[in-house]
Amino acid sequence: MRHPRTFAVTAALGLALAGFGAIPATAATPSSAPASAAHYTAAGKHSAANDQAFYDAVMKSVAKKRAANPLAASVTVYYSTANAPSFTSQISQAAQIWNSSVQNVRLAQSNSGADFQYYEGDDPQNGSYASTDGHGNGYIFLDYSQNQQYYSVRVVAHETGHVLGLPDHYSGPCSELMSGGGPGTSCRNAYPNSTEKSRVNSLWRNGLASAVKPAA
Ligand SMILES: [Zn+2]
Repeated sequence: MRHPRTFAVTAALGLALAGFGAIPATAATPSSAPASAAHYTAAGKHSAANDQAFYDAVMKSVAKKRAANPLAASVTVYYSTANAPSFTSQISQAAQIWNSSVQNVRLAQSNSGADFQYYEGDDPQNGSYASTDGHGNGYIFLDYSQNQQYYSVRVVAHETGHVLGLPDHYSGPCSELMSGGGPGTSCRNAYPNSTEKSRVNSLWRNGLASAVKPAA
């Protein structure tokens, strides 16, 4: 499917999407990591309240969709890759991983009117993180060097897990997606475990109920 508004910078420069060593010169980057960010490694600032704030912002956006189409079987959350052109492969894989793991929420790409956006750039202080602007929109920032150091698909799937409402748990094993950078750079698991899947399904079942307002 073609998205006319997608930046064609990557294709024009002939950069390889598969390798995350390719760094486009025109990456749009948030100016700095806000206080409400959930990071991939414990080095970054993090709190459960921040995770909740981000989830609340995404749900607020989803609630508008539910109001427009209250009979849909599951909630679809739309993401934009327009500002993360060198990560489209990893983002697509992360979406596929989540869509094959949970039933009550679906991720789909739509570069116009998306619920949340992926960004890419250099932020050695904060690394990769998920955040919100507090106005119903969220974004995920993917740090170049961290995505080279760690398995990139795991980084993207982990940050996407924040959008679906999961908090960080750095002390967990590699088999746990939300342990993030905790198990070290050799960890290549990009799938949520059964507990994480159940939690997301539960969150979005509850979220679905609260998002749908009864008819007046
Ligand atoms: Zn995290």
